[in-house]
Amino acid sequence: MQFMSTRGKDGPVSFETALLNGLARDGGLYLPVSWPKFSLDDIRAMQSKSYAELAGLIMSRFTEGDIDQAEMTELARQTYAGFTHPDVAPLKPVSDNLHVLELFYGPTIAFKDYAMQFLSRAFDRALTRQNRTAVILGATSGDTGSAALEAFKGRASVDVFILFPDGRVSPVQQKQMTSVSADGAHAVAVSGDFDDCQDMVKACFNDAAFRDEMNLSAVNSINWARLMPQIVYYFSSALKVGAPDQPVAFSVPTGNFGNVFAGWVAAQMGLPVERFIVASNRNDILTRFFATGTMERQAVDPSLSPSMDIQVSSNFERLLFELLDRDGARVADLMQQFAQTGSFAVAEDVLRDALSIFSGFCLDDEGTKEEIKTTYEETGMIIDPHSAVGLAAARKARKSGLVSQDTPVISLACAHPAKFPDAVRSACGVHPALPDHLSDLMDRDEVMLKADNDMAAVQALLRAERR
Ligand SMILES: *Cc1c(COP(=O)(O)O)cnc(C)c1O
Repeated sequence: MQFMSTRGKDGPVSFETALLNGLARDGGLYLPVSWPKFSLDDIRAMQSKSYAELAGLIMSRFTEGDIDQAEMTELARQTYAGFTHPDVAPLKPVSDNLHVLELFYGPTIAFKDYAMQFLSRAFDRALTRQNRTAVILGATSGDTGSAALEAFKGRASVDVFILFPDGRVSPVQQKQMTSVSADGAHAVAVSGDFDDCQDMVKACFNDAAFRDEMNLSAVNSINWARLMPQIVYYFSSALKVGAPDQPVAFSVPTGNFGNVFAGWVAAQMGLPVERFIVASNRNDILTRFFATGTMERQAVDPSLSPSMDIQVSSNFERLLFELLDRDGARVADLMQQFAQTGSFAVAEDVLRDALSIFSGFCLDDEGTKEEIKTTYEETGMIIDPHSAVGLAAARKARKSGLVSQDTPVISLACAHPAKFPDAVRSACGVHPALPDHLSDLMDRDEVMLKADNDMAAVQALLRAERR
């Protein structure tokens, strides 16, 4: 399979090139040149497969010529061997025809592990084959950083540096990053806020000489190889409630539009999906887009679900490319307009196409707490604030008739409640305990580097600390 850019000026390239480049050279995002398809019979036959076998089957369709199905299945087996639930991504009933897909059984108890643990293995494989090393540099407001440090620690081909705003991530999130002690994995506390960290990462990538000197790579959710493992749990969960003979709906708590786009890809590959519910917190740029056809950036407003406090949903560019019949020049125009003016609009028929499969809902902090409380009282299940946004949106979609009564709705639970203990306790009165493998987390030793909010200081630190 070959990959092309959403802005039309890079590609076709191989899977390995798309993986290591991350962002396309024309500033766009990579997508496969065509969508692999499964027939209904193919999907029925998936029923008997283990999670790793299913992952091997689905993901290898994107890596033909690079990684074959047998090797991909072995990679997936290694990727998910350390997950703490035998189902890897278990589905739990909430009420009639409403289910929660729990995606927090990886090492850092957020769904980002499902992709990042695969990505680190794919990187290591590609770099070893090419006899190269790389430096991964990223910024985090919480979950991505710990998932990346945990996944890439100790891999001989990669050094990883994650910048986080000093004093502005939650205590659990900070410990998860700073207690990773392994050669080549570095949490860097920066005297600034998240935007400062992000700006310095961008500046390092835009400094071509530095980028080449370090062989810098990015692992944020614009990397195609991070979407690929996320397609798998859309299939595995739908199969459990009757797919492909019964269509399903998904409710997905959204920030960068990465996870929900992976669901859309599953539908392109043949999984019968009635509707995707795109659930946002008070940062409702996507809800407003689905209501009006205009994407308009506003200031980020901190909420109880910080991993969704995003105003620019980078992965939306991939859907836009599809909605505009893969017209890369048009996408490049709109994205340039968005960068310059903070907004762009699509035509009525384009919006109508989008609404035939997507619906946007948003929920404020009060509603989020209410959902955590109600779910706890009705089912005894403790959910985190991000999962609550998804679940409340699922209920609203059913009530408003956007999803038919007999269609199973699968709502994604993207983090363990113990990652956000304060919000959970204030909503339902229960302090969620960390799972066993993290029970001593808060007592672990912390190791971190410190950097001033200054690009030269960060560059000097990388030069000094890389292996
Ligand atoms: C990253 C994250 C999200 C948002 O996922 P996107 O792929 O960016 O839409 C939602 N919830 C949690 C807990 C996350 O860590």
